[in-house]
Amino acid sequence: MKKIALVTGGTRGIGAAIAVALHSAGYDVAVTYHSNVDAAHAFRESTSIPVFCWDVSDYTQCEEGIRIVEAEIGCIDVLVNNAGITRDTVLHHMVPGQWMDVINTNLGSVFNMSRNVIEGMRARSFGRIINISSINGERGQMGQTNYAAAKAGILGFTRSLALESARKNITVNAIAPGYCDTDMVSAIPQEALEKIMAGIPVGHLGSGSDIARLVVFLADNSAGFITGATFDVNGGQFMA
Ligand code: NDP
Repeated sequence: MKKIALVTGGTRGIGAAIAVALHSAGYDVAVTYHSNVDAAHAFRESTSIPVFCWDVSDYTQCEEGIRIVEAEIGCIDVLVNNAGITRDTVLHHMVPGQWMDVINTNLGSVFNMSRNVIEGMRARSFGRIINISSINGERGQMGQTNYAAAKAGILGFTRSLALESARKNITVNAIAPGYCDTDMVSAIPQEALEKIMAGIPVGHLGSGSDIARLVVFLADNSAGFITGATFDVNGGQFMA
């Protein structure tokens, strides 16, 4: 029987590449998005992968959304917590809304989603949870105290849930991408992006598929000995 994968923020960027790669690898895949209806429609049209809309920063919406996905598609075997946002500014200009939006969307979502699949995974004695962190959660970044805190928080969450879940054949891992060619990075001013590019040893940005192929590897049944790990996929920009 086909395994079922759910990718948050799967209609654009890295999440879309992950969803397509899992689909190509034989999974039944569903994705979520939040507000960009055009991107969601285009993704649905080009892939036929079912698309669901809810705000992953809201616990109740995640609970209800997962209930609907499981009723329509089946129990979730693989959860990829990918949805994320940036609200960049230096701390001395940051307002509480910029802090809370990023913490709730990037880190709160990982709790909201994982909490609502973990009991089913434990009952079925199988699960794969793959959390998308960031190079900037490992090393820090000017203007990203909110984002770096959320992405670093994901790493502690990953290790702790990996310990709690290991005996149930559920693995929990994190991927820390470097700069990838998506809408999130095209929002960075050109001058800042040129400086970033100069610091990437391989000399180019990553792509969604660079991250996606690792997700497919970690999701596989045969990857059961890999848990609690953080994988750097960053063109050599940071070596933890
Ligand atoms: P994009 O901005 O291209 O896409 C983000 C996706 O997340 C969209 O599908 C978006 O939905 C969804 N999303 C955002 N907020 C919410 C929400 N509240 N509820 C549900 N869905 C939401 O991001 P990337 O593809 O660039 O990044 C994907 C992940 O990888 C993020 O976690 C990011 O932090 C991380 N990352 C990215 C890097 C990069 O260089 N791009 C580097 C390191 C980490 P909608 O389309 O409706 O807005």
